[in-house]
Amino acid sequence: MPQPTPLLINPKAGSLFRSGLKTWLRNNRRAFRLVSTESAEDLTAKARKLAESGEPVVAAAGGDGTLMCAAQGLVGTGAALGILPCGTMNVFARELGIGSRRFDIALEAIQSGITQEVDIFAVNGRPFLQMAGFGPDARVIELITPALKKRMGAAAHVVTGLKVALERPPLITMTLPDGETLQGTQIIMGNGKRYGGEAHLFAEAEYNDGRLDAAIIDQENMGILFEMLGLIVSKGATRQNISDFTKLRRIKNCTLTCEGDLSYHLDGDYAGTLHPGEELRIERMPHKLKVCIPETPVALTPLERIMAHPAIAAMREKLQVLNEL
Ligand SMILES: [Mg+2]
Repeated sequence: MPQPTPLLINPKAGSLFRSGLKTWLRNNRRAFRLVSTESAEDLTAKARKLAESGEPVVAAAGGDGTLMCAAQGLVGTGAALGILPCGTMNVFARELGIGSRRFDIALEAIQSGITQEVDIFAVNGRPFLQMAGFGPDARVIELITPALKKRMGAAAHVVTGLKVALERPPLITMTLPDGETLQGTQIIMGNGKRYGGEAHLFAEAEYNDGRLDAAIIDQENMGILFEMLGLIVSKGATRQNISDFTKLRRIKNCTLTCEGDLSYHLDGDYAGTLHPGEELRIERMPHKLKVCIPETPVALTPLERIMAHPAIAAMREKLQVLNEL
């Protein structure tokens, strides 16, 4: 029987009940030592304390925002982050092959002894795990009320998106270390491939290459939406499949300025607004984060499982041949 892993948990979080984690924990309580947390700061402080006391793995239950708080306490300590993904999107857990709300696989990852190192980037010193968005996508998140999100879940983004579609997005300037400048109305940076749920926005992003993948889109609001949908449908941006309105860069660091008020989000949480004359600095943090991963990544969506079936793969290959005739 492995040693119980400390599990940081907010006992009042609604996601515990909605995701079924509360019930699952009842049947797996011996695997964990529950550590109650009251706030984001408390969670970060307790994560650090546990890591400094020599725990090899510190687990946290929550969505991407909660995991980032735990990561902030663990980064640079040598302790690995264990993930019980009970949030709405669980993008980071999906990316690492743990999946969303697949608690048996999450436990297997925590007990596997296998870890992966993940780059951590920060916006003006504030770190994020998975992605950062600057422009209308962040404006949508800024305007979503907690009540709406609770009632509609992911669909709240669509309703609020219609509101934002009527605004004019300000022009953002991105300056790279070599002096190159790029302009667009929506910038998205990915530490991994996924943007939300199973939607891939960057086909070639890697967690451990010391770089952020960035898409700079220069379009009006509806155009931005179509550009992003296009990239998601084609399973992520590559230099081959992007349109003339989108540019791709793989960056170590950069700065952003804007001609108008620019909302930005980190891991899907509204993080602030940049005003004209101010600057956002995006850079890599000195330490990487260690994360527990399962031996075999979870099979993805039902559609992906179907597409990965040998018969379907063979059929697609045949169609490819027909295409080339
Ligand atoms: Mg990368």
